[in-house]
Amino acid sequence: MEENILSKCQCGGNVKIFDALYECEDCKTQVWKYSFGREFKEKEAKKLFKGDSFMLKGFKSSTNSLYDTKAIINDGKVELIFDEDTKSTTMFLCECGGEVTQISQGYKCNSCEKIIWAKFMNKLLTFRQIRKLFKGDGLKLNNLKSQRGNIFNAEIFYVNNELNLEYI
Ligand SMILES: [Zn+2]
Ligand SMILES: [Zn+2]
Repeated sequence: MEENILSKCQCGGNVKIFDALYECEDCKTQVWKYSFGREFKEKEAKKLFKGDSFMLKGFKSSTNSLYDTKAIINDGKVELIFDEDTKSTTMFLCECGGEVTQISQGYKCNSCEKIIWAKFMNKLLTFRQIRKLFKGDGLKLNNLKSQRGNIFNAEIFYVNNELNLEYI
């Protein structure tokens, strides 16, 4: 086999290895080496071209959360299959040692059940900020807006499963 041939495609054609993608010479099916926020290894691409659907780890969503899900080639392209086997993976650990995963609108520790909502008052917290809070560190936030409309700066931190706020 030539060096730049990955494997046989399910159509019988040769799958060629290019810089950024794998492509079948015949049916032009493509698997981009970097897609859905992760890198497709040659081993994985081979399986996909064989027509297998299988679990892949570490897809990254636009909000930086990680998830595992199945992929398959459909109509010449890689498609992800979201079903009951899809799962969010640990993004980081809580200060209790538990695993933190993403839930709708926020993040939750699977061990101590600490929940931190992605939005705090008028601020959308970044992934880094959320991780800090789970670590037990304080977080300085500027230009927070109270319900009455006052703008203020504060430091927030988690104590005893409650979000505390200190004006600074
Ligand atoms: Zn093909
Ligand atoms: Zn925890």
